[in-house]
Amino acid sequence: MRKGKQLRVTVSLPTVSNQGKTGVIVLVPLIGITVSLEDERKLTLSRDYSDSVLKAGGLPVMIPLCTDDEVIKRFSEQLDGLILSGGGDIDPTLFEEEPHPGLGEIVPERDEMEIALVRRFVDMNKPVFGICRGCQILNVALGGDMYQDLQAQRACVIQHSQRAPRSHASHSVQIHEGSLLHSILGKTSIKVNSFHHQAVRMVAPGMKISAKSSDEVVEAIESVSGSFVLGVQWHPECMTSSSEEAEKLFEEFVKACGKRKWRNEEQTGKEKS
Ligand code: MN
Repeated sequence: MRKGKQLRVTVSLPTVSNQGKTGVIVLVPLIGITVSLEDERKLTLSRDYSDSVLKAGGLPVMIPLCTDDEVIKRFSEQLDGLILSGGGDIDPTLFEEEPHPGLGEIVPERDEMEIALVRRFVDMNKPVFGICRGCQILNVALGGDMYQDLQAQRACVIQHSQRAPRSHASHSVQIHEGSLLHSILGKTSIKVNSFHHQAVRMVAPGMKISAKSSDEVVEAIESVSGSFVLGVQWHPECMTSSSEEAEKLFEEFVKACGKRKWRNEEQTGKEKS
């Protein structure tokens, strides 16, 4: 830590001894994080996301709202991984439904941009990590659908909008054996926080369920390919200082982004030589 600066988060960026050589650059996975739009002008993101990425050894970048194809293409080329952050509701017309009375505020521009980003990242085989709303938009982007309002459209027996601090793990989820999520956490059941009134319904082609709550609500989905395309319905970024599992999720995500980056650099190196 630099003198005189009190950082809130433990940053763990890789370093290398350059043994007197100059020009040695240590590549760090560049992780794009989508943001929310408030009051039509303000782009916002809870620092829990960027802190969790820093702690896991990645370099976080906030992706501003923009639906321009070329901008989205450049972001997907230059970033090593994508985090779809939490936020408001999702436009149901994206999965051919009329708005339910229980639907909350939507930002169509954000939906459009995130869908385009997901499709590009998945096409390029780059890691994607969807959190809460991000889990749902990941599913919608790949052709699945969702409940617009869980309580009204489907009887839930447990509370999914917890009235407890954000870091508090309020309900359990059962993790499917053989899933990527299971291989990361090594557990078939964990406790998570819960702040959602929407959830994945029909899982997109190419994706599968990796965790459910005890009332059968989909709590995590992932790619059938085994590559790191994972969505979780809870908020692990709020739990990285209290939960080992939450920390592991970010570490494995950043690791997956790094692996792909080194592979690319090796290929570029070979092409040059
Ligand atoms: Mn839940």
